[in-house]
Amino acid sequence: MTTRRSFLKQSSALALIPLMPVASFEIAAANKVPLDDPAAKALRYVEDATLAKRADKMGVAAADQVCSNCRFYITDDATAAWAPCQLFQNRLVAGPGWCAGWVPKS
Ligand code: SF4
Repeated sequence: MTTRRSFLKQSSALALIPLMPVASFEIAAANKVPLDDPAAKALRYVEDATLAKRADKMGVAAADQVCSNCRFYITDDATAAWAPCQLFQNRLVAGPGWCAGWVPKS
């Protein structure tokens, strides 16, 4: 039997469901590494690696270095547009981005 109290609890929980994707998006957006972040500037982080002045590193051609193939890009999905970066305290960086801390995945 549904009591008035349990009905109200269920109703209020259901009312929040349409807001969750928006809230998740806002949280993710808030966790992106801002380009004007001091650490991002120090490491010359960019969201588009083609804009960065890169050099060949550890046997990998400069043009092949992007966040999505960096050791610090933490995701199981190699095609993820954004993922946490260990170098930036697990804030989100762009998959096609780059910074001077790039290291190839082992
Ligand atoms: S450390 Fe790697 S994943 Fe993180 S911003 Fe630099 S290149 Fe991208």
